[in-house]
Amino acid sequence: MARPRILSGMRPTGPLHLGNLMGALDNWVRLQDSYDCFFTIVDWHSLTTDYADPRAIGQNIVEVAADWLAAGLDPARSVLFVQSQVPEHAELHLLLSMVTPVPWLERVPTYKEQQQQLADRDLSTYGFLGYPLLQTADIIVYKADAVPVGEDQVPHIELSREIVRRFNHLYGPVFPEPKTLLTEAKRIPGTDGRKMSKSYHNAIYLKDPPEVAREKIRPMVTDPARMRRTDPGNPDVCPVFDLHKAFSPQATQEWSAAGCRSAGIGCLDCKGRLTDHMLERLATIHARRPEFAARPDTVWDILREGSRKAREVAGATMEHVRAAMKIAYPK
Ligand code: SF4
Repeated sequence: MARPRILSGMRPTGPLHLGNLMGALDNWVRLQDSYDCFFTIVDWHSLTTDYADPRAIGQNIVEVAADWLAAGLDPARSVLFVQSQVPEHAELHLLLSMVTPVPWLERVPTYKEQQQQLADRDLSTYGFLGYPLLQTADIIVYKADAVPVGEDQVPHIELSREIVRRFNHLYGPVFPEPKTLLTEAKRIPGTDGRKMSKSYHNAIYLKDPPEVAREKIRPMVTDPARMRRTDPGNPDVCPVFDLHKAFSPQATQEWSAAGCRSAGIGCLDCKGRLTDHMLERLATIHARRPEFAARPDTVWDILREGSRKAREVAGATMEHVRAAMKIAYPK
């Protein structure tokens, strides 16, 4: 029996950090065992916010792909491709734009939120408003059964389902309604205690060499009430402990929590152990990544081959779409 198909993507904003690894990539690597996987670097989505200066996107595609390959995404088992290399995404996006009411897009929660957050840019563009519509096209052009996402993306998938229902109602059953495959959320704070993010300059990157990762963790924010080594602390409010929960075995977590509450350990001891476990977890990535990063041509070969495979599937879907819409004209 054919395995269910999933699709997910990442924007090429630069090298990936621990938040990307624990929030998505790690899960994708596991999903390869049970799903027919399509993973895409969504470069057109980067243009929705970075249209004024897109120069970095090409290099960022290589950075993301190097991280993917080093983390264990396997081009022999998954289709790894670049969105813009499959122009069918754009055609389907256009056709979907004909049937999608504008208020459906305006009510997506991230629309207004992001406009406020990125107030230094003019995001009153159609491209930005249409972002979830392009995302819908990305998913359904492969007739994906499900989409692995975090909690914040659930309204987008709900919108995709609504658009599919409308399309199928108008033209017949072309697309399956994609389901949400919720990724368990782990809190991965950055070194300043806020959510790890490239734009906060608080990220530990997969490409950071071990000594750089150690340097970043050493001054990391802890329980602010623990001013002195002799003060007992509270691991429940400490971002370092959140990272322990993501990377350290149970025994180390217990050692850290007990030592923190009793002031039996210092924060530097605690961070040192955390870094050891984190680096153990990253060892394979650190070993593999330089090879890919040093050979961008090989990375592009892999992405080109993945994009070719993706186009075969997307092309067949578009024939189905044009036929259903009665716009398949003689060639
Ligand atoms: S001992 Fe560890 S958990 Fe406690 S405040 Fe320091 S870094 Fe945080």
